[in-house]
Amino acid sequence: MKKYTSFFLLVIVAIACNNNTATKTGTSSFSITEKKIGIIDSSVITEYTITNPDGMKVSIMNYGGTVTQLFTKDKEGVFGDVILGYDSLTGFLQKGNPYFGCLVGRYANRIANGNFTIDGKTYQLAKNDNGQSLHGGIKGFDKVVWNVEKQQGDSSLKLTYLSKDGEEGYPGNVSISVVYTLRSDNALAISYEATTDKTTPINLTNHCYFNLSAGKDSTILNHSLQLLADAYTPVNDVLIPLGTIDAVKNTPMDFTAPKLIGKDIAAVKGGYDHNWVLNKKDSSLTLAATLEHTASGRVMEVYTTEPGIQFYSGNFLDGTLQNTKKGAKYVKHAALCLETQHFPNSPNQPNFPSTILKSGAVYTHTSVYKFLVQ
Ligand code: BGC
Repeated sequence: MKKYTSFFLLVIVAIACNNNTATKTGTSSFSITEKKIGIIDSSVITEYTITNPDGMKVSIMNYGGTVTQLFTKDKEGVFGDVILGYDSLTGFLQKGNPYFGCLVGRYANRIANGNFTIDGKTYQLAKNDNGQSLHGGIKGFDKVVWNVEKQQGDSSLKLTYLSKDGEEGYPGNVSISVVYTLRSDNALAISYEATTDKTTPINLTNHCYFNLSAGKDSTILNHSLQLLADAYTPVNDVLIPLGTIDAVKNTPMDFTAPKLIGKDIAAVKGGYDHNWVLNKKDSSLTLAATLEHTASGRVMEVYTTEPGIQFYSGNFLDGTLQNTKKGAKYVKHAALCLETQHFPNSPNQPNFPSTILKSGAVYTHTSVYKFLVQ
């Protein structure tokens, strides 16, 4: 009998450890916990929370590969959640959820008229945004359930998804993996990889909405931003790049030195929603942006291997989203996105860096969001 009792005890302990594992590295420890938060089309939706030795936490769910919470310290050492989101899965499922925290693909941002031509064949995508295709179409990577595996060391999650040939009108079976890693230096690293069996455009990113005040300021107009970009891609009325690469100097788009977002925003029709062309000549991981909120002391640095960054100042938020965190009103400019990416509409713009992935090649992209206080 005693033998069986200890056996059952062992099983219970093993299950408990599996749901809430902690790995000790010297005096530090990382852990990953799991919480079931709902069911979509008979798939269980699970939210995973990674905690680092410093106490920083990131939560990610398998629905949309979405970052649901991101707790970082302010200058007093108090943790606050610096991204917009909802109090439950219901919030994420509401019509008009503006891509909070999710993975975006197969093509982040817009493709003009929702079409492109590869090897003489034209592919038509759904026109889900003013006659253009936005963020992968009607059911993009933000609305699919990803497979999630905890990685050794309890600081990383590997998410995988197979996008079938013809999904949302795109060619080729594309196999994607995204690794989210919370590092001990308070950085969240996101590494993307994709392969295909037919030539296809690909442009993956993450769509977190940041407000470094962690709920204290209703907008980000008082955040200061620096972008390591001397140029940007101007757009037409439906936010499709004109095709030119213009200098930011002496324009409201100039963030080459740190500048309050509210300073020149009124001079930009609709607010900031543009792709900046990063000052880099290769695909090494380099600093692209620094965002700072003086009152809390929080600073976020964004590093990327990508050539561009979409700075979107939350222009379409209008206070109507339901089930928001703590019932907050997400008003216009309540948060901003810094989406590391290739340029919008590149499949139709031969002078932009190519987003075409061929069979046998591997798409790779790494971006790092690092949090500091000062
Ligand atoms: C785009 C915006 C769009 C938003 C979706 C951003 O990446 O640039 O134009 O409205 O995503 O919420």
